[in-house]
Amino acid sequence: MEPEAAKQRIDALRELLNRYSHQYYAENASEVTDAEYDQLTQELRNLEAQFPQFSDPSSPTERVGGEVSADFRVVRFEQPVLSLGNLHSFGEFEDYAARISQMLAVESTLEWTAELKIDGLSIILDYESGRLTRAATRGDGWVGEDVTANVREISVIANVLKEPITGQFRGEVYMPRSRFQQLNDMRLKSGLTPLANPRNAAAGSLRQLDPQVTRERGLRAFIYQIREIRLGPQIGRQSEVLAALDSWGLPVESHWHKCQSVAEVRDYIDRFQNQRPPLDFDIDGLVFKLDRIDWQKRLGATHKTPRWAMAYKFPPEEALTRVRNIVISVGRTGTLTPTAELEPVILAGTRVSRASLHNEDILRQLDVRIGDSVFVRKAGEIIPEVVRVEKTLRPKDAVPFVFPSECPACGAPVVRSPGEAAHRCTAGLSCPAQLRESLIHFTSRDAMDIEGMGEKTVDLLIESGLVRSVSDIYRMNSGQLLALPRFAEVSADNLIERIAASKRQPLSRLVYGLGIRFVGERGAETLAAHFGTMEALVNASADQLTQVTDVGPRTAESVRQFFEAPLNRQVINELSELGVNMTEPGASRAPKPLDGKTYVLTGTLSTMTRKEAEERLTLLGARVASSVSSNTDAVIYGEKAGSKLDKAQRLGVPRMDEQEFLDWLAKQVEGF
Ligand code: NAD
Repeated sequence: MEPEAAKQRIDALRELLNRYSHQYYAENASEVTDAEYDQLTQELRNLEAQFPQFSDPSSPTERVGGEVSADFRVVRFEQPVLSLGNLHSFGEFEDYAARISQMLAVESTLEWTAELKIDGLSIILDYESGRLTRAATRGDGWVGEDVTANVREISVIANVLKEPITGQFRGEVYMPRSRFQQLNDMRLKSGLTPLANPRNAAAGSLRQLDPQVTRERGLRAFIYQIREIRLGPQIGRQSEVLAALDSWGLPVESHWHKCQSVAEVRDYIDRFQNQRPPLDFDIDGLVFKLDRIDWQKRLGATHKTPRWAMAYKFPPEEALTRVRNIVISVGRTGTLTPTAELEPVILAGTRVSRASLHNEDILRQLDVRIGDSVFVRKAGEIIPEVVRVEKTLRPKDAVPFVFPSECPACGAPVVRSPGEAAHRCTAGLSCPAQLRESLIHFTSRDAMDIEGMGEKTVDLLIESGLVRSVSDIYRMNSGQLLALPRFAEVSADNLIERIAASKRQPLSRLVYGLGIRFVGERGAETLAAHFGTMEALVNASADQLTQVTDVGPRTAESVRQFFEAPLNRQVINELSELGVNMTEPGASRAPKPLDGKTYVLTGTLSTMTRKEAEERLTLLGARVASSVSSNTDAVIYGEKAGSKLDKAQRLGVPRMDEQEFLDWLAKQVEGF
């Protein structure tokens, strides 16, 4: 982006965010969802990082909270009341925890207090000798609003503590969901507009001029932090803080947990993101705080957020949008997948414009039609899916979608094998869609690794008729390529050279590149190492195949079917005649030092990539597995190793760090 355009966008974003912020903090209302607000803030943050010449200390990215209303007396804070940094995945937490470890330079495992992130508004309470003397909103972090009279009307906030403590505490005021429901029912009955959500309702109810209104609203609060103790015990850990606050008679949310490892953090996330217990209040995430307060102090804070805590924000679970069209795509193995093309919508922080409908059964069950309004959600983080149709919004003329009986790419009949959910095009590689996907896979990095054969080139080669089967790529010459648009002499020569070089790839890559169902990279390596030559593999019976370690009956059957198909045999013969290597180097089954052993790699190694480490191990006959079990012979770990290392410890599986691994590897090679 040009600086001028960036400046314009930055100004526009700042203006917009200021408007939303004013609505949110001053008017207790929102025109956009928090996720949309966060998305715009992130865009602004990225632009400001890219164009530092436009940075501005008054930018919404630099500010904490909102403005202070003139209706209240102001409270000045001696220590700023900060916000929290955000994380959106467990992986990001692992990175964060590793960074903190490094900054602290301590050996021991860090302990974290995990808490629910209550979706309300911050409150700062001052107690003197156990008596509530002042309550303030966070305001802009330096100056808050004095809401003492109102807070005295919140029954769960003790006016007198059980101990004569003098200090300042922080917590969150919220409106219970049940109360919110009642309030909105009442408002509707009186002809008033309902409030948008419990957070806005809580903010509006606390920032009232008449404490009587606050009392009637039934607000509640949870207290979670000691900002200062002037008279009372000094407490060394956040987990102990929560216990102490509770013992002094302050309301503490009960689902907190002291996590002794990152694995426990992951379990906590899983519990509250996926199997949340019923709660009578909204949460918009979790908060992880370093348990040791002396270490919190050592880390300190930026001008906006403490370094020792992070909010883990939940992705918005669902979004509503409209189906523009339903299209059917044909995959490498001929599977027809229905996909909904959507009006773009923001989901879990990303723009979503397509969602999978999986197969005909699911499409029918959901009864998705073109024009429907649908709820979409992220499935397993990556591919969004349609969860349900909002039938009340269905257009009158929407008709049920009819699944095609012919392949949309080539017109060949479509079949559905008994017991399978998927429909398949029967044309095999003569279907241009299957050929396209097969070629993209065959030439990809982990298969034959032909750089320069991207999707565009593949499309061009198929459209021009130059390539009608996978083997055709080895028949092309640079003259033919030069006749195509987009090919200059150098790039044509380069591509032909790289294609020729790919002929030397080991059998394992070729087997993977053929795209046999259920045979991934690892499976292809196992098969190639076991059979040594393509000929032996092609002629292997299902029985012989199942004898190979890690090859189950389903894979064995798929491999057998693949090599029985005449068209596939023909492609393999052609490839062989064109000079493609059909053997696996070093696959003569002389015994190897690590035959029968299984290892797991985790974390980042500094002297080699994980893939290289894996290759070294498999060369010596070992198997590299992706998860730890009691059958694992050892776990090799690098920097930022996560849950696998914890599991190894739990199961008593031996562990090797990088140096130990290198020494051990050298010994194995010596003996080989
Ligand atoms: P935040 O809400 O992302 O996180 C910090 C807040 O979490 C703290 O201030 C605290 O009040 C609260 N919290 C709840 N439980 C906690 C616990 N157990 N421990 C510690 N803190 C806890 O940050 P923020 O600065 O308060 O607010 C910014 C957010 O407000 C944005 O992310 C955005 O989603 C929202 N916002 C929305 C709009 C809108 O128009 N929709 C406008 C402005 C801001």
